[in-house]
Amino acid sequence: MATLKAVRGTRDLLPAETELWNRIEATARNVFARYRFGEIRTPLFEDTALFARGVGEETDIVSKEMYTWEDRARAQSEKPQSLTLRPENTAGVVRAYIEHKLGETGQLQKLYYIGPQFRRERPQKGRYRQFWQIGAEVIGPPSAGSESPVRDAEILEMLATLLDELHIEGWTLELNSVGSAADRERYNEVLRQALVQVQEKMCADCQRRAVTNPLRVLDCKVPEDQPIIDALPKITASLDQESKDHFAQVTAALDAAGVPYRLNPRLVRGLDYYTRTTFEFTHGGLGAQNALLGGGRYDGLSEAIGGPKAPGIGFAIGLDRLVLTLQAAQANQDFALSKGKVDVYIAPMADAKNAARLGAMNAAALVLARALRRAGLSAELGDASFRLKKSFEAADKAARRIVILGEDELDSGVLTVKDFSTGEQKKIPRGELAAHLRS
Ligand code: AMP
Repeated sequence: MATLKAVRGTRDLLPAETELWNRIEATARNVFARYRFGEIRTPLFEDTALFARGVGEETDIVSKEMYTWEDRARAQSEKPQSLTLRPENTAGVVRAYIEHKLGETGQLQKLYYIGPQFRRERPQKGRYRQFWQIGAEVIGPPSAGSESPVRDAEILEMLATLLDELHIEGWTLELNSVGSAADRERYNEVLRQALVQVQEKMCADCQRRAVTNPLRVLDCKVPEDQPIIDALPKITASLDQESKDHFAQVTAALDAAGVPYRLNPRLVRGLDYYTRTTFEFTHGGLGAQNALLGGGRYDGLSEAIGGPKAPGIGFAIGLDRLVLTLQAAQANQDFALSKGKVDVYIAPMADAKNAARLGAMNAAALVLARALRRAGLSAELGDASFRLKKSFEAADKAARRIVILGEDELDSGVLTVKDFSTGEQKKIPRGELAAHLRS
């Protein structure tokens, strides 16, 4: 029989890796809490219409990358429902905001999520079909100040703080404004006109987009198309005064806070719901898939999926890419990873031919391990049937220290502790063991 493997584009994360993942997640939760964000967990699958309306039919995500299926109807009279594994989380968060009438509180909602997303992309380094995002959204009625540029600046400042606290160096914040819906419509027209001259030289996708949604041409990754795209009119010229003022306030606040950025007028992002501020944090160490995170403002998203007016801004960090960056920079040393080692290995010793003594020593070792673990220490429990050499080998792999528990130690209540990093060996009374191991 053929062996079964994880599906293409998905992978297992084993303990050697998950420790770093958990550290990153804990750091993110800690930062979010300091900015008064609360966690939201939305379902892994949603009604397909949510993404079609929220993310946009013309986007790559919706037009080619979603995992969609017809769910069996419950009754004959019912139509099967089209469901989709979430390709991103903002649409789900905004759906939940509408469904739970969070806008009626009159307060700004600050929500974050950590979880897997699914896109049927061509897998490569830093690009998977199941990947993780850490994201956050600030959303609320306009009366709560949800449109204010201070929210944009605060989100960007928070991201800079998070990346600093993760010890990620060398990131670049790319920043742009795509203006209001009206600005974008105007710009789409400008692009449509400009594309008439050049589209026949472009890729098939761009030729289609030039007609259906010219803005999406700017997302094109085909190398031959890049010089043509660079020569197209810039969105900056199509912004009205209000959008320009909004953006100027965002950049002024970033300047004041000392958060560096690079203006990039081509940054329109691959999702239709963005308005005004859009941004990406890139990192040179990532290679072709160099975007660590992306986000922007989405003042019309709630209305697009049938909700009240609820402007918002948010971002999604690619957690897989954060991990790659930290692993490459070996910055994870700063996290003082345990490398899977526990505080102590408990090695019971007994006469291998005496089944009763083997059992008694194993039980005594379990009692000791239980006391240490309950005292907050991490411990690995050995096996009295192991010879001393085998215990030492196992302990060296699993723990920073070994405690020998033989018949003599059991009688005297004094244990031998060896520290592998210093080679030092000490006799410690059992009652002082926890304190000694903690020091
Ligand atoms: P997006 O939702 O497309 O704005 O993506 C936000 C971030 O998620 C990107 O900057 C990436 O870091 C990450 N990301 C998006 N797609 C993938 C993928 N297929 N595999 C890994 N990370 C991804």
